[in-house]
Amino acid sequence: MDAKAAVVWPGRRTWAVESVELDPPRQGEVLVRVEAAGLCHSDAHLASGGYAGLRRPMVGGHEGAGVVEAVGPGVTLVEEGDHVVFAFMPACGVCTDCAGGRQHLCELGAGVAEGFAIADGTARRRARGAELGSFCFVGSFATRTVVHERSVVRFEPSLPMESVCLLGCAGVTGWGAAVNTAAVRTGDTAVIVGVGGIGAMALLGARYAGAAQVWAVDPVPGKRAAAIELGADGTAASMAELLPELRDETRGRLADQVVLCMGSGDSSAMADAMALLGKQGRAVVVNVHGDTEHEVRMSLRDMQSYEKQLVGCLAGSWSPREGLRTLLDLYGRGRIPLDRLVTARYPLDRIQDGFADQAAGKNVRGVVLP
Ligand SMILES: [Zn+2]
Ligand SMILES: [Zn+2]
Repeated sequence: MDAKAAVVWPGRRTWAVESVELDPPRQGEVLVRVEAAGLCHSDAHLASGGYAGLRRPMVGGHEGAGVVEAVGPGVTLVEEGDHVVFAFMPACGVCTDCAGGRQHLCELGAGVAEGFAIADGTARRRARGAELGSFCFVGSFATRTVVHERSVVRFEPSLPMESVCLLGCAGVTGWGAAVNTAAVRTGDTAVIVGVGGIGAMALLGARYAGAAQVWAVDPVPGKRAAAIELGADGTAASMAELLPELRDETRGRLADQVVLCMGSGDSSAMADAMALLGKQGRAVVVNVHGDTEHEVRMSLRDMQSYEKQLVGCLAGSWSPREGLRTLLDLYGRGRIPLDRLVTARYPLDRIQDGFADQAAGKNVRGVVLP
């Protein structure tokens, strides 16, 4: 069947919105009509030439929600008509990582390089005579997509698509980064750096986990205002600017957690992040970094003496399925002001404008409504 999708082609740095040939769902797969898809910085990174090891052409989008239009043989988790949100790691459940409780690090993750179907490693999409991958096995920048049933989680039809779609990446990743990876506890002081979709969810997660103080850092005034609206105690334009104020507000104890949620990470900022940490403080790298960034400068003396930690985070360090169910439940009960994170909507044809607005710092989260 025909679908329209936003594709990244080899050597191109823009999204080509075009007609693609989409196969019907095979064993264990579902056809989803995409109703909303979030614009994440990881997609921007893909389009700007990042993730050099990933296949091009690739259909972008790993955050989204829609309606199941058809199911392939053997599908048991969802049925036609279900409203579903995409999980960007279709954890297999039986590999060493899944069996060890690390479903977000499932061995299937190796397949994202090609972005072909996890069931048989072959393409489900073609255009201009080429086989297309789908980003994170999802490819939500499209009117329709075919994914494995493990890539979707059902939700109540009463919940709005454009808000729920954010849970797939921003929600699971940001909230999980604060609550699981950074392990914010009651009374902690947490600093969130970068107030996009992931940073906003990290802020909300830290608050929900009981942090006594949550600080937000962002160079864009509108993002700092959004952080205050979402419950931050205070903001700063840079980590260096925050340091003296944080020292005052914590009587010199500084932060227990610094969660780095910038659009694209900057290794030269790592020293500032580590300087914000107090004893046994933990800095969490959530944002993507350039493929060629290999060097970091920071005070290792400081790190050793105060037992500071620097750790990475993928998908919020929890099973995307567990994360989605948890966050869908909280959102359904009115505990997460998710709707306020959606700050602009674009038709699929104008996806380029959405990413331009993202780069200009205009959005907490922009959403494509295909
Ligand atoms: Zn697995
Ligand atoms: Zn993402």
